[in-house]
Amino acid sequence: MTLTCKNWFLIRFVTCYKHFLLAMLLGLSVLTLGLGGIYLHGRSNLEDLVKEKATIANALFQNTIDEAHVAINKATPLLGAACTPATAAELKRISVLSPNIRTVNLVKDDYIYCSSLFSKALKRNANTRIAGDSHLFLATHNYFNPNEKILFLSSAVGETYAIASIDVQYIKKTLKTIGQKIPLTITLNNQQRVTYATSYSETEDGTLIALNSRDDEFTISSRISQTMYLDYMLSHLYISMSLCVIIAIVISINGYRQLKRPRSLQEELRRAVKENEFLPYLQPIVNHQGRVCGAEILMRWHHPNQGFIMPELFIPLAEDTGLINVMTTQVLTSVKSYLLQNHQYLPDGFHLAINISPCQCNDLLFYKDCLSFMSAFPEGKVKLVAELTEREFIKDTGHAALLFEKLHNLGVQIALDDFGTGHSSLAYINQFNIDIIKIDKSFTHLIGSVDMPSHIVDNVVDLANRLNIDVVAEGVENATQETYLKQHNIQFFQGYLYDKPLPPAIFMQKMKEQSHGQKRLQAAPSFEG
Ligand code: C2E
Ligand code: CA
Ligand code: CA
Repeated sequence: MTLTCKNWFLIRFVTCYKHFLLAMLLGLSVLTLGLGGIYLHGRSNLEDLVKEKATIANALFQNTIDEAHVAINKATPLLGAACTPATAAELKRISVLSPNIRTVNLVKDDYIYCSSLFSKALKRNANTRIAGDSHLFLATHNYFNPNEKILFLSSAVGETYAIASIDVQYIKKTLKTIGQKIPLTITLNNQQRVTYATSYSETEDGTLIALNSRDDEFTISSRISQTMYLDYMLSHLYISMSLCVIIAIVISINGYRQLKRPRSLQEELRRAVKENEFLPYLQPIVNHQGRVCGAEILMRWHHPNQGFIMPELFIPLAEDTGLINVMTTQVLTSVKSYLLQNHQYLPDGFHLAINISPCQCNDLLFYKDCLSFMSAFPEGKVKLVAELTEREFIKDTGHAALLFEKLHNLGVQIALDDFGTGHSSLAYINQFNIDIIKIDKSFTHLIGSVDMPSHIVDNVVDLANRLNIDVVAEGVENATQETYLKQHNIQFFQGYLYDKPLPPAIFMQKMKEQSHGQKRLQAAPSFEG
């Protein structure tokens, strides 16, 4: 199967940002659910509101129609009689007593012949023609304004009928007052409609809310479009929506943190390796003259939350998981670049010690690290030393012997760390061709103490000397210890008396100062000659 560049990029992206994408997905799900809930809630709220407004409009309009019924009932007995001033006055009286009724008229052969508006009989002309045969109907009001519509309610007696008119403008204003932004429509049972213009364009989509009048004379309806739902949500539920967005963001961030948090110490260690959190610190090693001639690399874990963690807390787990290999590679590579940048301040044959665990002696990974390290420096510039503790046994000595042989061939020296604390010192020294021994700090600390059993320290120091190999005394904390060790021919010293393990940049600064100091000394004129 071939991977296209695009697919490869996608896979890399997903694996790198897996936690981020998952957290985003979680946040989006919460947002979708939350907004979905708010939308449904808003929808039902708006529908209830529209129903409520339709009910009010229905009641008000029904009231007006009832008034019209009363008016035409009163006018019906006047039908058939001639339109005398008395009849017209009576129609006027009926109309005036009905506040929502504009006129009450008598119609014969489709023409108004008597009206509450005039005190005389009307002529048959275009203005008095009424072409309505429904019970409730809309017609153009012709008396004063031919463009204005008017609503009529009629009650027939044979060929004649009494009609009451209701102002459509008044109905529209009433609907507008009730509905406000919500469009309400009155549909008569002859399908004629009265509505008023709102900011929403008329639509056939959306939810229809319809309410029939008591006697099915008309229907009050409203169609709720998606735009209306959206506007309602934005204007009424923006606080809930903003809260929902905030909650989704908080959940995303929290989720991301939780996902990023490793579930076990082992995973935490793996994460730290990926994030390059293991840093090398350098503790100076000084010679008999007190000059820094080398350093030991001591690993520190710079944890983002816990701060600096000492090696004893994580090295055992790193050894068990095999992560110690990659951690060693990381610190050695980091130190290499510091040394390369500052090589001019280092004395030739600079002693650089690195600790290796017994489990690293079972393969040649460490050898590869050393090879890459050594090849970066000119010959003789840096002397790499692998420190191996004698506290723990090396299980497979065959592998270790091969590794040490290859290391020796490369010019890497082997130091026996914590000398005196194990039980196999001499056997190790013979078997592995040990080049350096490091007297354990527990012996150094006995020097100068009141109850120092001097023969123990003497024996360890003498044994080291008699083996005729270089000796480094570690854990030197005071001048008494230094003096004692010097008297016993120890050549190299390491301990808080000189310096604690230092960040590489600070260590390099010290090397620079030492190098400048030495140059100044060499340049100073000699008085002897
Ligand atoms: P070690 O190799 O015996 O390192 C010497 C330890 O003594 C260091 O502790 C150092 O900080 C401490 N020390 C130095 N001078 C003095 C002193 O004057 N007084 C006292 N009291 N202590 C002093 P650290 O750095 O905590 O390292 C502890 C151990 O962790 C090391 O013991 C070594 O066994 C292991 N370790 C450190 N770095 C590495 C590494 O990169 N790889 C492996 N495999 N082990 C490491
Ligand atoms: Ca060591
Ligand atoms: Ca040691």
